[in-house]
Amino acid sequence: MEWKKTGCVCCANLCGLEVQVENNRIVKVRGDKDHPRSEGYVCRKGLNIAYHQHHVDRLMYPLKKVGDAFERISWDQAVHEVAEKLSATVKEHGPRSFALMGGFTVACPSQGTFAIHLLRSLGSQYSYNALAQELTGRYWVDGKTFGNQSHQTVPHLDETDMLLAVGWNPMMSHHTPQARRVLTRLSKDPNRLLVVIDPRLSETAKIADIHLPVKPGTDALLYRAMISIILEEGWHNQDYMDRRVSGFEAIRSLFTDFDAKAALGVCELDYARVREVCRFFATRKSCLRSDLGVLMTRHSTLISYLENALLSVCGRIGAEGGNIFPVGLRSGRGNPKSTPDEQEARSWRTVTSHYPAITSIYPPNVMPEEILSGHPDRLRAVVVSGANPLRSYADTTAYEKAFSRLDLLVTVDIAMTETAALSHYVLPALSAYESWDGNPLIGEGFPKVSLQMRPPVVKPEGEQIEAGEIFLRLSDRLGFVPEIPESLNKAADSGDRFRFGMALMEYLRSDPKAARSLPCILSKTLGKTLGSGNLAAFWGLLQNLPPAVQEMAARVGFHPGPGLGEEIFKAVLQHPEGIWVGEVDAATWDHFQALDTQDGRIHLDAPEMKEWIQEIDPVLESKRLREHEEAYPFILSSGRHMDFNANTSLRDPAWNEGKRACTVLMHPEDAERCGFNDGQRVRITTEAGKETIELEVTRSTRPGYIMIPQGFGLVHGGKTYGTNANRLTKNTHRDRIAGTPLHRYIPCKVEAA
Ligand code: SF4
Repeated sequence: MEWKKTGCVCCANLCGLEVQVENNRIVKVRGDKDHPRSEGYVCRKGLNIAYHQHHVDRLMYPLKKVGDAFERISWDQAVHEVAEKLSATVKEHGPRSFALMGGFTVACPSQGTFAIHLLRSLGSQYSYNALAQELTGRYWVDGKTFGNQSHQTVPHLDETDMLLAVGWNPMMSHHTPQARRVLTRLSKDPNRLLVVIDPRLSETAKIADIHLPVKPGTDALLYRAMISIILEEGWHNQDYMDRRVSGFEAIRSLFTDFDAKAALGVCELDYARVREVCRFFATRKSCLRSDLGVLMTRHSTLISYLENALLSVCGRIGAEGGNIFPVGLRSGRGNPKSTPDEQEARSWRTVTSHYPAITSIYPPNVMPEEILSGHPDRLRAVVVSGANPLRSYADTTAYEKAFSRLDLLVTVDIAMTETAALSHYVLPALSAYESWDGNPLIGEGFPKVSLQMRPPVVKPEGEQIEAGEIFLRLSDRLGFVPEIPESLNKAADSGDRFRFGMALMEYLRSDPKAARSLPCILSKTLGKTLGSGNLAAFWGLLQNLPPAVQEMAARVGFHPGPGLGEEIFKAVLQHPEGIWVGEVDAATWDHFQALDTQDGRIHLDAPEMKEWIQEIDPVLESKRLREHEEAYPFILSSGRHMDFNANTSLRDPAWNEGKRACTVLMHPEDAERCGFNDGQRVRITTEAGKETIELEVTRSTRPGYIMIPQGFGLVHGGKTYGTNANRLTKNTHRDRIAGTPLHRYIPCKVEAA
C-alpha cells in the first residue's frame, strides 16, 4: 500500500510522518525519513495520529443550539445568522465587545490570516491565543532587550559545549527538533555538558551530567545568585558587554550587592555546585534553554529577563554555540514590530484586567473577567477556533460561568469539544489531514530553513470546509471583502499563475486598499483553481520575497528574481515531505542584524524589571514561600509532560488503553507521612477547586511537590476520561506583566478521596 507524506500535529515540532490509508482511514503511521527537519524522528503521539483524525465526536455539519440540543443547519443559514449576530453586537456595544479566541494553531496556522481579517474588519483588536498561556512574558522581555517582541533566541545545539536546560524536560516535551536524539547525543559526549535545573528528577535530569534540584518557585532567586557569582568571580565577558550591551551598569549593583549564599540556601542548592555550573557556563561555548517549568512559575516574566541578562553577561547571545536568532522567510523583511508597543495609545488593553497585547495577543487567563465584568464595554461575543478553553485554559469553572453569559459563542473545530458543547453555533472545519496546511515559522532555523505544506491524505466525510474559508464567508457576508474584478477571476480560471500574478498586481495598483483583504481575494480567486484557500494564501506569501531571503534561497539552488516565489511554490507541492528553502553562511553570519533596538545593542535597562529584581531577596522570598503552608502544604505542578498526553488533540481515550496515564505523582516520603498507598484515589484541593485522581508514588518527584498532567477530563462519546487539571488552576494566579498562568506553582492540599 502507498505511503502518503504528511506530518504530526501534536506539538510544535511538526515532525514528518508517512501514513497508509485504507477506506479513507489512516491505518499505519511511521516517521518520515525524508522530512528535512525530523529525518524519521517520531514519538508515540505522532504514531497515534489516527486517533486525532477518526473518532466518534468528529463534527460533520454546521450546528445550532436550539433549547438544550443541537440542530443541523445549512452553511448558508450558519453564516447568515452568525454574521448578523456579530454585526448586531458590535453595532450595539462597540468593537470591544467582540473577541477571537485562538484563530490559529501551530500546526494549522493558515486560518489565522482570515480570522484576523474578520476581527480587524469588525474593528476589534481582541485576539486571545494559547501562546499567551506560555510565552508572552518571554516575548515582552525580548521586546525590551532585542527591540522586537517577535525576536526569540534558540540554543545553537549543534555547536554548543554546554546546554543549561532550565525547567525543560525535552526527553518528554520535545520542543526542539529530534529532541531525544539530540539530548542523548549531547549527554553521551564526554566533551560536552548537559546541566539540568529542575525541582525533580525528570527524564532529562536523569541523563544530565549535573542536575540542580532547585526548590520549586525559587528560580528567579537562583538566576540572581548565578549572575552575582559570575560578576563576583570576574567570569563575565566585559569586552562583549562593552560592545554589545546597553544599560547593565544601571542594574549591576542589584547583583554585586547581593547575598548569593543566602539565596542558594533558600533554593536548597549547594553553593559550590552552583558556583561550578556558573564557571562552566561563563567559560564554555554555552547556551541556555528554558521552558514551561519556569515560564509558568513564580516571577515568570522576570525569569525571562534574568535569562537574557545571564546570557548577556557571559557574552552568549549571537555567539557560536550560544543562543542565536534563527533565520527564515521573515528575515530581511524590515522586521516590522508585530504589535504596537503597549505604551502606544492605539494599542488596547483589556477593559477590566488592563493587560496589554504582547505580539498582538491577549492572555486567555483574563477572558472570564472580561466577560463577567459589569463594564459597558465588556465582551459579549466570542468566536473560538482551534482552541478548547474549557479544558486547555486555567479555571474551567470560571470559563463555564463566563461563556454561559455570552450573547454569542461560536466554535469552529473538528470535534465536539467541551467548548463546542457550550456554544450557540458549532462550525465544522476540515482536519489537518483533510486540508492543505503548514507553518513556515516552524521551519526557521540556523543555518538552514525548511518549509512544508502538508497535502490532504484523507477525504472529509461530511460538510466540513477549511477553517479559513469559514472566516472568509463571514467576512464576505458582512461586506468586508472587496468586489473582485472579472479580469482577476478570469486570470485565476486560466490556471496560468504568471498571468494571475500580473492581473493581481494590476488590480492592487488600481485599488491599493484591497491589499488589506489580500488573503481573502487570493482565496476567492486562486483558491478556486488550487482547491484550497490555504494554498492560495501560501502562494501569496511567497511572492515578493525580500533580497535577504532570495539570497538564502539561492544557496540551496533556487533562482533569485521575480519567478522565485512560484519556483518555491512548485517545489513545495512536488515535495510534500518538505524542502530546504534557504541557507545562510554560518561562518560569516551576523546574528546581531536581528536586533531592532535603535543602537543595535542588547538593552537591559527595563525599569519594571529593576523594581521586580529588588523584590527577589532571600529573606522576603523565604517568608513568601511559607505563606500558604498551613492551608496548602503541597505545591502542585500542573502540566507534567509525558508520552500519554497531547493537549486535547487526541480525544479518543483508546490511544491510552492499558496505560497508567492520568495520575498524580507523589514522593514516597510524602505518601508514607500521609498514609497513602500507590494506586489509591486522592482528592487535591486548591483555591480554584477540587479534583480526585489516582496516586502514583515515585521518586521522580521531590518531597512536597506533586505533579499532574494536562489534557485529561475530556468528554468522549458522552463519557469523561481522566482528571481535568484546569479545575485546579485559578485564572487569577498569573504573571503580573503577561497574565500567563503559574501552573507549575499551585499551593494545594491532598487527602484520601
Ligand atoms: S508530538 Fe512527537 S511526533 Fe508529534 S511533532 Fe511532537 S515530537 Fe514529533
